[in-house]
Amino acid sequence: VIAIDGPVAAGKTVVGRALAQRLEFRYLDTGLMYRAITWLALRDGLPIEDETALGELAETHPVRLIGQESDQVLVGEHQVGEELRGSRVSQTVSLVARVPSVRRALVHQQRVLAEEGDIVVVGRDIGTVVLPDAGLKVFLSASPERRARRRWRETQGQSQAPEFQQVLAETKARDEIDSHRADSPLMPAVDAFLLDTDELSVGQVVERILSRIRELTVAGER
Ligand code: C5P
Repeated sequence: VIAIDGPVAAGKTVVGRALAQRLEFRYLDTGLMYRAITWLALRDGLPIEDETALGELAETHPVRLIGQESDQVLVGEHQVGEELRGSRVSQTVSLVARVPSVRRALVHQQRVLAEEGDIVVVGRDIGTVVLPDAGLKVFLSASPERRARRRWRETQGQSQAPEFQQVLAETKARDEIDSHRADSPLMPAVDAFLLDTDELSVGQVVERILSRIRELTVAGER
């Protein structure tokens, strides 16, 4: 099991996918699961401060990731895709993800999915809480400006593309909530392999992780 954690837009998804492909492992993006519950809560008009209702929603609507790239999501009877990455969900998801009963329901599902191994799991608390026995834990980071710039570039060409300053403010706001919540805050595991991706391409990040895996394998064989 390979756990990859890090803040907003640190490159977890693109690196995690590429790594899973190289190793022929499965890929699990746990952020999509929190986004799916958030999407459902917004759609049903649930008050975001109602923790009991949010917990019940997560309990009763298992999230299934489908499609070749595991990027299509089934939540209850709804199939959702692109809308999970939209600004409404992005602005609300951290408020839903800090609710302990929501986390309990999703962490349980994540552990079941990872049980059989050969999987790359990306998120915020994978190495610290969800799968602390993972064979390799990676923590990706980069400056807020660099991360916001990447996110902002992805939005260019869309009909309602946001200003860079807005993307930067949203990036910082989400990191702030994710890092300071009481339940499973974003932080590197003590034994995490730390990688600052400011000056690295995706390919370079993947290569460094693969070298780390080789080092660990050789050390394990000694
Ligand atoms: O990774 P992504 O940006 O899609 O995650 C969306 C949000 O879901 C995060 O900002 C965080 O609030 C929450 N999350 C979490 N724990 C995870 C994965 C995501 O709290 N393991």
